[in-house]
Amino acid sequence: MTMAICIKCGSEKWGAWTPCEGCKYEPKAIEDRARQLMLTDHYYSMQELDLFGRRIAAGEPWVFDERTTDDFLAEYIQALHAQAVYDANEALVNEYRDTLDKEERDFTDEMGELVWTSSALLWRYGHFQGRVARAHTIGGWDAALAEFQKIQAEDPRLWSLEIMRSRTDDIDSYIVNVPARPTVGV
Ligand SMILES: [Zn+2]
Repeated sequence: MTMAICIKCGSEKWGAWTPCEGCKYEPKAIEDRARQLMLTDHYYSMQELDLFGRRIAAGEPWVFDERTTDDFLAEYIQALHAQAVYDANEALVNEYRDTLDKEERDFTDEMGELVWTSSALLWRYGHFQGRVARAHTIGGWDAALAEFQKIQAEDPRLWSLEIMRSRTDDIDSYIVNVPARPTVGV
């Protein structure tokens, strides 16, 4: 189990998000959960945690600068997002897994969950991409977007994908991918 320091009173506790026995504080908001996660033995040694705990107990409001805290929070939100996208698409991932041979599976396993989900979603999208390409050839970006949205309505799993216009001076094209970051709040 994880060894943690309470972000409110500096006491030691087991588990980042468990209630503190000292002050009863229990982190609920995402930001507080992320900050509580920072003060665990996942990231710091016991000696460092002990020092952080003493600083908080002495009245210091927080032990990291804003930049470090914000970076961690952004990473945490991204990880939550990756997990949520994966969870929402688990059946599709399994369907996709079955189409791969063992070596491909092992390779993708090493890349982590977001890669699995992205690959599965793009594989699924592959069944439809000809329609979007045709629409684009005939009617340009607006037609491609409309066709893409029609496909998402037909297979709601594809809501996790996004289409983006990609335009240069002589080429008006588009890209379909899985957003690495959440487009809306978690
Ligand atoms: Zn506490």
